[in-house]
Amino acid sequence: MYNTNGRPLRPARTAWEGKGFVTETLRQTRTGRAQIRFFRVYHGAPSAGRGLGEPGHCAATGRVTMEPMDKGLRGWGREFGDRTIMHVDMDAFFAQVEVLDHPEYAGKPVIVGALPESGRGVVSTCNYIARRFGVHSAMPITRAAKLCPHAIFLRPRMARYEEISARIFEVLTGFSPLVEPLSIDEAFLDMTGCEHFYRSAREMGQAVKSAIYEATHLTASVGIAPNKFLAKLASDSEKPDGLVILKISDVDRFLLPLPVRALWGVGPKTAERLQSAGLRTVADIRARSVAELTQLMGDSLGTHIWLLAHGQDDRAVVPDTEAKSIGRETTFETDIPDGPALRAHLARLVASVGLRLRKAGRYARTVTVKIRYPDFETHTKSKTLSTPTRDDDTLYREASALLDAFRLRRPLRLLGVYVSHLQQYVQPSLFGQPEENRLTEVVDAINEKLGRRVVRRGREL
Ligand SMILES: [Mg+2]
Repeated sequence: MYNTNGRPLRPARTAWEGKGFVTETLRQTRTGRAQIRFFRVYHGAPSAGRGLGEPGHCAATGRVTMEPMDKGLRGWGREFGDRTIMHVDMDAFFAQVEVLDHPEYAGKPVIVGALPESGRGVVSTCNYIARRFGVHSAMPITRAAKLCPHAIFLRPRMARYEEISARIFEVLTGFSPLVEPLSIDEAFLDMTGCEHFYRSAREMGQAVKSAIYEATHLTASVGIAPNKFLAKLASDSEKPDGLVILKISDVDRFLLPLPVRALWGVGPKTAERLQSAGLRTVADIRARSVAELTQLMGDSLGTHIWLLAHGQDDRAVVPDTEAKSIGRETTFETDIPDGPALRAHLARLVASVGLRLRKAGRYARTVTVKIRYPDFETHTKSKTLSTPTRDDDTLYREASALLDAFRLRRPLRLLGVYVSHLQQYVQPSLFGQPEENRLTEVVDAINEKLGRRVVRRGREL
């Protein structure tokens, strides 16, 4: 049998306890040097009209499993299969920026997050010197201060980080039209079809790293692999300043010894369930059938884990040319009941979101407040405004009313504020321009000049 690409296929159908079935197809890469295994998991019986269509064609989703793809003129691109995905991640980004701006911090442990004097808050980022003392992100700042008392502790300067982030993304978009930002300092690039510009994957990765360094004087770690999941694992595996390349033929050697936690979406609780079933490494999962996994973890999680353990991840790189929402949330050191302290946190979140909104030159139509109780029960409430806004006072008024509407009876573990339905312009209407608060403008201008948020509203204190 042949797929649309004219390559030999070996379709195999595995019955799966009446709940569904798995198809496995093997394909030679065009060079014949590697074999690609494709899996598709189907829920339901084939006879229910959800079975296989053409070989390689998934009737259930209508998707073509193996798309013919021109991998370019250079042979090396084929060693990655249908896609060549790159993950770029800046090393200890906030800390690196601080050392860049303050050369006197070089060679010293730098911890960005909260100040130890404040007694609360967590480490946001620390440099690799601080990590040697056991400090890591999300650690309570008081603990970090005990482990590394001589470190330089700093509050984050988001506006500065965002400025440098914009430069990084400008560099990345020069390498591929398909850049998907994951965070302020992290992105996926679909490099498929760009291979012929470089002699090897290593040269391609090095080109991106060098371009970032030239533009920012900061280092990034890069992973190149057949899909997003593997590319991210690769870039994470040799930080800082790493460049890790996973060809299809490298995947098993790399993936099998990893602990189950390495699988995307497997958190501490899932890992615990897997471990109690004797599954400690990816190899352990590989030894089980998809039926066993779904029995253990449920249909969707079981399937997901099983596919990842086989190195399969068909998520596309989705370029995000414009932010769909802007938000900020904070997890409290100790749970906080409703009252002045919680409202001050809300005001600080609003101020941060408002500033980012104005920097992005956008107005928001919808305000969302997110809360999480200590047992992780999470709720959101949103309100869509009649006139879009980017004014802190308006945002605070709306967010505060949303928080009222929760009628909190328990303390909160987390509070978040998001704005969405962003637009660049506001329709001039009979009612004139939207509320532009002169005070907000002045505060922004002063803070901009001083490089940090020195001037704050009383409600934030
Ligand atoms: Mg990073």
